[in-house]
Amino acid sequence: MTTTSVPVKTKQTGLLAGETKNGIGPGEKMKALLYFGPGKKSWEEKPKPLINEPTDALVKILKTTICGTDLHIMKGDVPTVSVGRIIGHEGVGIIEEVGTAVSNFKKGDHVLISCITSCGKCDYCKRGMYSHCENGGWILGHLIDGTQAEYVRIPYADTSLYHIPAGSDEEALVMLSDILPTGFECGVLNGKVQPGNTVAIVGSGPIGLAALLTAQFYSPAEIIMIDPDDNRLATAKKFGATQIINNSKENAIERVKQLTNNKGVDTVIEAVGIPATFELCESLVGPGGTIANIGVHGKSVELHLEKLWSHNITITTRLVDTVTTPMLLKTVQSKKLDSKQLITHHFKLSDIINAYDTFQNAAREKALKVILSNE
Ligand SMILES: [Zn+2]
Ligand SMILES: [Zn+2]
Repeated sequence: MTTTSVPVKTKQTGLLAGETKNGIGPGEKMKALLYFGPGKKSWEEKPKPLINEPTDALVKILKTTICGTDLHIMKGDVPTVSVGRIIGHEGVGIIEEVGTAVSNFKKGDHVLISCITSCGKCDYCKRGMYSHCENGGWILGHLIDGTQAEYVRIPYADTSLYHIPAGSDEEALVMLSDILPTGFECGVLNGKVQPGNTVAIVGSGPIGLAALLTAQFYSPAEIIMIDPDDNRLATAKKFGATQIINNSKENAIERVKQLTNNKGVDTVIEAVGIPATFELCESLVGPGGTIANIGVHGKSVELHLEKLWSHNITITTRLVDTVTTPMLLKTVQSKKLDSKQLITHHFKLSDIINAYDTFQNAAREKALKVILSNE
């Protein structure tokens, strides 16, 4: 599926065919990761994106990463992704060009790309629900070409990009494109984590760990991490979990009962997205508690209202709005939050096929987040 082309120098300019002096020109090429249907992907040449709308910015990717959602796309679980799409919705980069209506950014600015595109003007954007933006939402690497490429076009740049302060650790900031706001907004904020509360997090992957890191802003008394992978649990312990439970070896419901005087927890965060883990959350939540779902569910789950109807519980769902990104940026800048801990592997962007292989075999490779550098 990979195409190869031999670069041909033109006589007049000495530039590669299609290149212009300022590096931007119609017909110019770049490399990108393309989705070609379930199980098929390819790193190949594509036309470099152009500014389509005055509100667009063209960003040269410096660093990007692979998300669990990208693995779902690769499996064919997200049918709205069309064949030939460049995927990826996280990253940092440098502004290469801006449309005439972009006022907040200029060429050369270093930017954090949000996984959610926000027009800033529709009803949902005005309510801070950027995820449901009528002109954006989660479109990057989904309905439009994404960030696993040398360049990406970002619509509504003024409201969908964030300035990176000079001297920042840009690798650490890649964690702010998606996983930290997702763990925080969908898990911690929706789960109403409070000082002194008990919290259980089901799933110790990158998103569960992002919830674990950001739950600690509120000083809960206990954070119990539940996962079938000992390595991920050991990481959770390092990241601040007070208790770890391997639910492939022990009964998580019994252990949580013991740890909470038979009450169950105040907040349980679902960070997996399968029926078994959601139903486990239903068994772990105590009276008055909250089940905060983060997981992307592909199947219906059983809701045990015959037990829960009288328990004063709340169940929340949410797609990340990235409305907390500016706040999270400050916590990373001030080192209150060490997001770099989530990064376990580094690859060149051009080595992305191997990076996928590592990320797909996360348990074997002890992988959390992989960083892909376009340098
Ligand atoms: Zn993601
Ligand atoms: Zn909007």
